Amino acid sequence: MTRWLLLLPALATLGCAAEQAPAAVDPEAPEEAPAPWTLVVADPVSETAVLEALEAWNAALGREAIVLGDPATPYGARRHVYVRLAEDGSLAKGVGGLASCDGPTEVCIVRLRADLLKSARVIAHELGHVLGGWGHTETAGTLMYWESWYPHGAVGITPEDVVHVLAAR
Ligand SMILES: [Zn+2]
Repeated sequence: MTRWLLLLPALATLGCAAEQAPAAVDPEAPEEAPAPWTLVVADPVSETAVLEALEAWNAALGREAIVLGDPATPYGARRHVYVRLAEDGSLAKGVGGLASCDGPTEVCIVRLRADLLKSARVIAHELGHVLGGWGHTETAGTLMYWESWYPHGAVGITPEDVVHVLAAR
């Protein structure tokens, strides 16, 4: 099953969409922290912004949930997330970023609009989807709200965002 979320911002600052093919979950399996995602940054995405975003999530979750990987890693490595500029036309009008994951193979792509390649907040929002928060929060101002009014502002992971991501696991 593939889930789609496509949301368009009312005031055209940041919209976000996400799609996911969820991995099979064994309800009898013991609860343990999943292995970290390895993140691969493609030019011209800002590595500084990416580092800020992943360090914010690691701090908020209290573990190494995402680590920076080798940019030469070929696409398709398991449990990798590739952050890259969206190709023309691959984002709906008004959407700032898109996270898409293949659950069974655990390969994700985060695509960013050209004017948001340095936005740690937008990157952190998309990584929140990769970490498991496939929906959006209902509270304006939280990172995982469907729309951010300050796409170039601080990452700003709130306790509600952490609950949102952890609850989806
Ligand atoms: Zn989103």
